[in-house]
Amino acid sequence: MEIIHVSAECYPVAKAGGLGDVVGALPKYQNELGHLAKVVMPMYKTPFLYAHEFDVVHKGSFGMGGSWLNYTIIKEKFNVLGFDLYLIDINGLLDRQKVYGYDDDVERFTSFQIAVVDWLSKWNHRPDVVHVHDHHAGLVPFMMQNCFAYKHMATIPTVLTIHNAQYQGWMGWNKSNYLPAWDSNSWGKLDWKNNINPLASAVKCSFRVTTVSPSYLEELKFNSNDLEALFEYEKGKCSGIINGIDDLVWNPELDKYIDTQYGIEDVDEGKLINKEVLCKEYNLDIHKPLIVFIGRLVDEKGADLLPKAIGDAIYHMQGQMNFLVLGSGDFWVERQLEDMKGGLMGYYNSKIGYNEKLSHQMYAGADFLLMPSRVEPCGLNQLYAMRYGTVPIVRSTGGLKDTVIDYGTPDGSGYGIRFNDATVGDITYSIHRAVQLYSQPKRLDEVRIKMMQIDNSWEISTGKYIELYKSLQ
Ligand code: ADP
Repeated sequence: MEIIHVSAECYPVAKAGGLGDVVGALPKYQNELGHLAKVVMPMYKTPFLYAHEFDVVHKGSFGMGGSWLNYTIIKEKFNVLGFDLYLIDINGLLDRQKVYGYDDDVERFTSFQIAVVDWLSKWNHRPDVVHVHDHHAGLVPFMMQNCFAYKHMATIPTVLTIHNAQYQGWMGWNKSNYLPAWDSNSWGKLDWKNNINPLASAVKCSFRVTTVSPSYLEELKFNSNDLEALFEYEKGKCSGIINGIDDLVWNPELDKYIDTQYGIEDVDEGKLINKEVLCKEYNLDIHKPLIVFIGRLVDEKGADLLPKAIGDAIYHMQGQMNFLVLGSGDFWVERQLEDMKGGLMGYYNSKIGYNEKLSHQMYAGADFLLMPSRVEPCGLNQLYAMRYGTVPIVRSTGGLKDTVIDYGTPDGSGYGIRFNDATVGDITYSIHRAVQLYSQPKRLDEVRIKMMQIDNSWEISTGKYIELYKSLQ
């Protein structure tokens, strides 16, 4: 099958979070099964662009809200990612350094999507599936089915995968003229509560919808930033497929970012050396359990709870543990995490910003990874942590619930630490349990080995996506 993935992110071309990891991995594994999976995304000015060679494969133009825009599609020459990578260049709109966070993101991603659909419409054959990811690609199914110039593609199956339903790409109806001439009888397929809502539109128009874990799909019916009724109504075409791990990128035996590679046989020694490197650099005590947080510093991730939870844990448990935080996001959380450093020197440290290498070193060198998420569609961090023998401490929500079993489970099948509420109290209690586990080296070792043996590879999930596509042919 020929599958076109449309996405705003794809690792290592451009990544802001888990979406990038998934789109950088899934097509590769689909190709390994003998399919032809391709990725099309915006051409940002990221290091990947300058480090690789590209061919121009298409040039086109379209109108958007009174402006006439030219686009160019370039294709990476040597298939370095294991799939065909197409980048869309729209001068002045997409060619920026960051993926998101500009005032004109609506214009940027709308123009990206129009260019994708316009390009596909010029093909002289049809792909088997157009697979769109999150709201940045959410208008594609609508345009393929309702824009006069593109309606000949209406029967091409479309699949939407929701990696995060909190962000929906809302735009006012005053921007409806951005879309190429469309059948106005179909306005209801764009609308949600008096706005154009690209994510809602994709849920309505896609042939099938998947979320990145089964539990997240259930939660969306009760908590999805105002789309609850839509998910309840459309539940018949929705299913959850858990993400996998790209074993070529996230593998402690091969990882070039970490100080010392290790496997199941030498996990304790390997982790200790990596921990030593971290502790030295961040002025922490190698003899104490090292608990880390890696991620976006936003409410969804429970990042606002970190300063008090860390402070309380260190105070009430007499500094029996160390913490290291890596992340960026809300200004006030960043500031608090920085300001705490002075008072908790030797027990706590943080690095504000995005740092791929450090994140790998932390998965390898930490003993525990804390994820107090309020919302977690799948969560990749806990999967990576387990692959590196690092015990996840997670709130029981979304994909965290689907992938982590508490080590206290009576039948002995567990390996992580779970808690129910995104509160400082639940977090500090879980940290207390982590300290207890750390004080039992034999038990900790068993847990590490058990986690590292779990098969969270992409093979299983890739098969599920292929089944889904086949059901649409
Ligand atoms: P989300 O996509 O909601 O941010 P996921 O758990 O799905 O969360 O994916 C997060 C990915 O982003 C992981 O690969 C994680 O290591 C990475 N990541 C998040 N923040 C940072 C950071 N500050 N530096 C490096 N990597 C980060």
